[in-house]
Amino acid sequence: MTGRDTLLGQRRMHLGLRFLHGESTGSYVTRLAARNLRPVEAVLASLGNGPMPVDPQYTEMYVSRYARERLANLAGRTVAEMQKRLVSLSDEFLMPADAAEDWEWPWDARAGYVVQACSLCAAQRGTRSTAWLILADPWHVCLRHHRWTDNSRSTQHPYIDLGALSEVVQAQQRLNRVTKRLGPLAARWVQADAYSLLAHCGTPDRAEKAKQWRALAVELGEQRVRPLAQFGWLARLTEDLAWLEVRRLSGVLTTTEHKQWLPRVRRRYGHGLAGPLATWHGQHRPLARDYLTTVRGDHSVSTDVENEVRKATGHHPVASALTSLEDATCLPWVRLPGSMDRLFL
Ligand SMILES: [Zn+2]
Repeated sequence: MTGRDTLLGQRRMHLGLRFLHGESTGSYVTRLAARNLRPVEAVLASLGNGPMPVDPQYTEMYVSRYARERLANLAGRTVAEMQKRLVSLSDEFLMPADAAEDWEWPWDARAGYVVQACSLCAAQRGTRSTAWLILADPWHVCLRHHRWTDNSRSTQHPYIDLGALSEVVQAQQRLNRVTKRLGPLAARWVQADAYSLLAHCGTPDRAEKAKQWRALAVELGEQRVRPLAQFGWLARLTEDLAWLEVRRLSGVLTTTEHKQWLPRVRRRYGHGLAGPLATWHGQHRPLARDYLTTVRGDHSVSTDVENEVRKATGHHPVASALTSLEDATCLPWVRLPGSMDRLFL
C-alpha cells in the first residue's frame, strides 16, 4: 500500500471517547475528531489513505485491518475492545486485504440500518451533536428515556416520544426478556418469524386503536409509524412463539404441549393469522436433543455448530449481529408487494 504515513496513528489522541451502544464506525470517528477539535479528514489521514469523509447519517464507514489497528491506537483501546463495541469493525466487515484504500463509505450500509441515537444517551456520553447507530432493525427504543428513533432523517421530529405510548416501551421489555431466555441468536429467529407472520397478515388492531395510529401517521408519515404500530404485536407474538421455542430447542417439548399450543395462541390473534400460525407450528415440531445450550451462549457460536443446529431445527442462518429480520426468518413471507404501504389502512 502506497501513500500511508506510517508515523501517524501510533499514539492515542488527547481526549478519549465513551462508547455509545450500537454506534456506527462513521459516527464514532466523527465524534472522536470533534472531541479532539480536529477535522475528520485529519483523523482519517492517521488511519492510512482513502476518500473524503461522509456525514455519518448517510452510510456506514468500513475500514481495512491496518486502519482498524490505527483507529484503536488513536482511541486508546485494544482492537478486541473496538470490535466488540463497534460492530462494523468485526472481521466480517473488514475491507479485503488487497483493497487499494484503508476505508470506504459505500452508498449504503453493507448490513444493518443507520439509526439516529437517543440524543439524551449521547449527551450523557459527552456528545452534543447527533450520533448514529448501526443496527439490525431500522428502529431503536431507548428504555432509559422512552424514545423511539429510526432511520428517518427528520430534523423536525428526530425521535418519537413514547411517554403516551407505554405499550411500545413494554413491547421492548418483552423482547428483551425473550432474548434473555433464548439468547440473542434463537431470540432473533423467533422475532424474525413473528415479524414475517405480521408482514403476511397485518396487525389485528381494533378499529379504535387503528384510528390512533392513523392520526399519528398523518403527523409523522406512514413509513415511520408502521413499525411503531406493529411493535406491540411483534413483541406479543414473539413471546408466544418463544414459549414453544424455548422448550423445543431445549429438547423438552412434549407432543401434547406442542398440540395444545396452536389453538391457545390462535385464539389470541384471530382468524387472519390462523393459517400462517399453523404453518409455523408445523415447522417447529418437538426435538429430541438440547440445542439451546449450544446456541444460547452469544454470537460467538461457530458457523459449523450454527449450521448443524440450523439443519436440525429448520432455522435460517443469522450470519451476523446485523442480519435483518427478513433474512433471519424460516417462513416464506417477507413482505407482500405493496402491502407494507397499506398495513393499517
Ligand atoms: Zn436515551
